Amino acid sequence: MNLDKLLDTTFTCQCGRSHKVPIRNIIYSEDALVHLPEVLSSLVNGRHIVLVADLRTLDILGRHAREVLEQAGWSVHQIIVPDSSHGSPVCNDTTHNWLNEHFPPADIALAVGSGVINDLTKWSAFEHDLPYAVVATAATMNGYTAANVAPTLKGVKTLITARAPLAVFAVPSVIINAPSELTAAGLGDTIAKPLSSADWLFNNIFCNENFCRYCSEIINSLEPYYFNKPEDIKTRRPAAIEALFNALLYSGIAMTIIGTSAPASGGEHLLSHTLDMMSSLDGVPHDLHGRQVGIGTIFSAALYERIFKIETPKPLSPPSDIDSTFWAGLAENVRDQYDLKKSALKTIYEKLTDAQIWQSFISAARQQVRSPDEIKNCLKTAGAAHTYADIKCSRERLMTAVLHMHEIRKRPTIIDLAWILGILPDSANEIIDTWLTA
Ligand SMILES: [Zn+2]
Ligand SMILES: [Zn+2]
Repeated sequence: MNLDKLLDTTFTCQCGRSHKVPIRNIIYSEDALVHLPEVLSSLVNGRHIVLVADLRTLDILGRHAREVLEQAGWSVHQIIVPDSSHGSPVCNDTTHNWLNEHFPPADIALAVGSGVINDLTKWSAFEHDLPYAVVATAATMNGYTAANVAPTLKGVKTLITARAPLAVFAVPSVIINAPSELTAAGLGDTIAKPLSSADWLFNNIFCNENFCRYCSEIINSLEPYYFNKPEDIKTRRPAAIEALFNALLYSGIAMTIIGTSAPASGGEHLLSHTLDMMSSLDGVPHDLHGRQVGIGTIFSAALYERIFKIETPKPLSPPSDIDSTFWAGLAENVRDQYDLKKSALKTIYEKLTDAQIWQSFISAARQQVRSPDEIKNCLKTAGAAHTYADIKCSRERLMTAVLHMHEIRKRPTIIDLAWILGILPDSANEIIDTWLTA
């Protein structure tokens, strides 16, 4: 699959829908910044740009980007997003409001950074009806090319639709030399994708959600690039880091094409989102998205392994309500999400007794999902997080997240199926002991 050919195209897909890739340029080269002025000039008419960075990314590439643009006659308004009390900035309503207050009129916005800076810039640019571009500083998540923003709003992890960037710039030496935990987090977020696709198939088969085979093939075609040589990610071999970075970019493009996070976020992501929300409840810091997602992916693969052994499901009623004591101030928002899922859970429960539906789901999912052993080994070899201690989480805290993660999203996932099949809560202890403890 020649992925470059996808950029800046609109095409009618075999899934029956028209797909648009609004991203026009991806520039991965040592002199990427030199191309900033000419590329941005091809995207917009004016010469006013708002450049958003944090203290670290300003030093890494922000200042240089600004100089190059100013030399080419651009007027650059620079905004440095302040650090949070835990360290680097966070993407939430407070930071967003702060950024919006400082956002000047401009022709285009430029994010210089990774997850948080990219999301904050995308979000404000969208609200100001400005196009945006990004200078990436680490291969750490797949949001660069996504149209979505994933902020925490009033303590709840939310997904907001915005617009994908028109261009992505990256300097290989910067991506390769980014802190190793950022790159390892990128692997954690990437390794999740085939499982996200399996959850997507689950929704397609049980709840008639649209499924696009073309998009899921994009995701699957990327797997060998990061899965086969995890030691090269640890030792920062340039080809391996570039492959990982591409896998992240193109899984983001798959989300943009579909217009939802379905190809890139299933049950394996919920563990990470739940840990983030717990952190907003009790103030205990959480780890990087991709590091937590890697743990969630091992957990999800262990659920699938158990599901694959079931020949004839004996469904149990799904949990009837959320744990409002646990969610405290967030209970109302979490319940809204869970209530929206109830009719779909009922449908799944009913269809589980249809042997044909069950077999078609199992054989489709089997082709997507690797064993927890393979996933854990890949993460471990690459130097990525693969135990709860790695994400600075106690066993008890992880267990709490595991038992509440099905409550936070309106879209059914494999986690809901595990509850309906009685795998959760019963096997949670054993899965944590076997796969996430050492
Ligand atoms: Zn993710
Ligand atoms: Zn399609």
